[in-house]
Amino acid sequence: MTGTEAATGLPAPRDDLRALEGYHSPQLDVRVRLNTNESPYPPPPEFVAALADRLRDVAYHRYPDRSARALRVALGELLGQPPERLFCANGSNEVLQTLLLTYAGAGRRALVFEPTYALHAHIARITGTTVVVGARRDDFHVDATAAADEIAAVRPAVVFLCSPNNPTGTVEPAPTVTTVLDAVRAAGGLLVVDEAYGEFASWSAAELVADDVPLVVVRTYSKVWSLAAQRLGFAIAPRAVVVELEKVVLPYHLSVATQLAGQLALDHRGPMLDRVAALVRERERIERALDHLAGVTPFPSGANFVLFRVEGDADAVWHVLVSRGVLVRSFARWPGVEGCLRVTVGTPEENDAFLAALSDALEEVRS
Ligand SMILES: *Cc1c(COP(=O)(O)O)cnc(C)c1O
Repeated sequence: MTGTEAATGLPAPRDDLRALEGYHSPQLDVRVRLNTNESPYPPPPEFVAALADRLRDVAYHRYPDRSARALRVALGELLGQPPERLFCANGSNEVLQTLLLTYAGAGRRALVFEPTYALHAHIARITGTTVVVGARRDDFHVDATAAADEIAAVRPAVVFLCSPNNPTGTVEPAPTVTTVLDAVRAAGGLLVVDEAYGEFASWSAAELVADDVPLVVVRTYSKVWSLAAQRLGFAIAPRAVVVELEKVVLPYHLSVATQLAGQLALDHRGPMLDRVAALVRERERIERALDHLAGVTPFPSGANFVLFRVEGDADAVWHVLVSRGVLVRSFARWPGVEGCLRVTVGTPEENDAFLAALSDALEEVRS
């Protein structure tokens, strides 16, 4: 028993949770917030008005449609998938949790390739899954052959690929995904490709999903659809996997407001895609600008953020940026991305403010 528990008389949490730390992404009240990869643009006002209209007519005394049928039909039409291959949940994090509860858990292993999205390992551990950590190459790509060997040796129940990878921005090419998928199939596991930033990238593993392939592709409304506050994500998965996930997830987990928002957002696809194109152009501008800054090395990104390494003390650079009202995410001491900062692509004005502040910060820290 720890001191606190002895003092309060409260019970201890599960032994295997004691070493876990909560998920932290510090929020500071600054002028330019480029640290959590959200869209810098709110959703179109016509969408917000349409949603408010529909919410007025909801039968609030009744449970929502448990199968989220209308949302899955609409999403399926957009993606060219039958609704039976779609599973929706409160953010892709709930999708990941449900996948782990269903296919991993106590006595089973999940394989992640670090550095990657911390929540893959974190949620896996919360579900009692043993996490095995694989490595990436120096260019942050997963080495397909090494990964296949590791999968054959470890026989994980679930393997995570993140493409584009957070925090590096790396897009895995199709041959890597198919090589890893073949190894996963041979080992009797499930491959989960997290495509939270898929719409910013040049290709998607969604085209590989089929009813006899152990592959699940996970997407979210949080980034591209400007709906981080709404909490909606989904999986594109074999029909039989969707059936299992629906057994495990809590009944009526997806509120009527979430279902409506997800459905109505699809009616505003045009403005959304314009924003994606604008953000990709701005990402390319940031990459070029960082390339020209002495003491900075940006890594190629297929997402709405750019990871870059700074010469010298990255934490000091981060602090100067904050003092200038610009918040980025520091990976200064994160294994595998030491000395790196990650900037989310913002509006052109925000990106200008970031680039100017960074240039000042580098000079200040150097002198
Ligand atoms: C932001 C992000 C998510 C999104 O999670 P939600 O729960 O959908 O908001 C998922 N995966 C990765 C890799 C992310 O960066």
